[in-house]
Amino acid sequence: MNTPERKNKVLVVYTGGTIGMVQDENGSLHPFELERIFEAVPQLHRTSYQIDSCQLDDIIDSSNMTPSFWVDTANIIEREYDNYDGFVVLHGTDTMAYTASALSFMFENLSKPIVLTGSQLPIGMLRSDGRENLICALEIAACTKVRIPEVCIFFESHLYRGNRSTKVSAENFDAFETFNYPSLAKAGIDITFREHLMMPMPSEPLIVRKAFDNHVAVLKLFPGISPEVVRSMVTTPGLHAVIIETFGSGNAPTEKWFIDALNEGVERGLLIVDVTQCKAGAVKLCQYATSFDLDRIGIIGGADITIEAAVTKLMYLLGNYGDNKQMVKELFAKSLRGELTE
Ligand code: ASP
Repeated sequence: MNTPERKNKVLVVYTGGTIGMVQDENGSLHPFELERIFEAVPQLHRTSYQIDSCQLDDIIDSSNMTPSFWVDTANIIEREYDNYDGFVVLHGTDTMAYTASALSFMFENLSKPIVLTGSQLPIGMLRSDGRENLICALEIAACTKVRIPEVCIFFESHLYRGNRSTKVSAENFDAFETFNYPSLAKAGIDITFREHLMMPMPSEPLIVRKAFDNHVAVLKLFPGISPEVVRSMVTTPGLHAVIIETFGSGNAPTEKWFIDALNEGVERGLLIVDVTQCKAGAVKLCQYATSFDLDRIGIIGGADITIEAAVTKLMYLLGNYGDNKQMVKELFAKSLRGELTE
């Protein structure tokens, strides 16, 4: 007797965003119920895999995203981890790269795909990019021939490593990019997977760490930045880490007041990280004289990490290992989930 073939199973977790929005009478977009997304994509009834869905208690525009929503999303995936082959998280595009990065750090030894997607136009609209994005994300999450042990973003024909992604357009359908890492798959007539670029399959069991410390700040440098602004940032009470968004390959002003302000912060135990404002390329401390002092006073180079990954990685490291500053420093400089090139 033939045993019936087991259907692959995907769980869709809906968090909000444009993909599931409707217009009110004033023309503003608001989130609506998950069932309506499936009404808008009747093709989903023809898939060879099983699709189940659930949603967060609060459906939000992702501009309202906070670490507690990351934890709620992670809790659902952790609870259902053994019951599904893959997960699709429907999410607003505005902070999708932050959530993808945060989830990637939370899920250590991940062996199944978690694919975030969304859209630039609500899925019910005629020209929406949401249908294509959702269907491809589902296909990828359901695929058991190629296993993707990563948190990814699928958007407009590319599968990106989540913690390398950045939203680059508030207008175009190809809204995401990973400037410092090639895409993991490309959807054309076929979906072509680039397995050699993917994280290796872990040999240890899954660990989900859910602590975040949001006492972090980002200081974007610009020519003419004032001492008051820099000093007020590094002396903010309760702050544990500052990311300085520097110029080029990690360069900053060499003026004494600037270096002194940072140095005082470092001496008080503030962790300061150097991430470049450039979208592509990496921080290389000491390549120019304008980063010698940063290196000398103990600022940590962020290599080619994105700002989204740097913020969430610091929140994650401080939340989970905050008692051991040295360990946070060492882990920040290492690639934990493929988020930077060592
Ligand atoms: N504001 C929306 C959000 O991020 C934009 C989108 O989904 O594209 O939730």
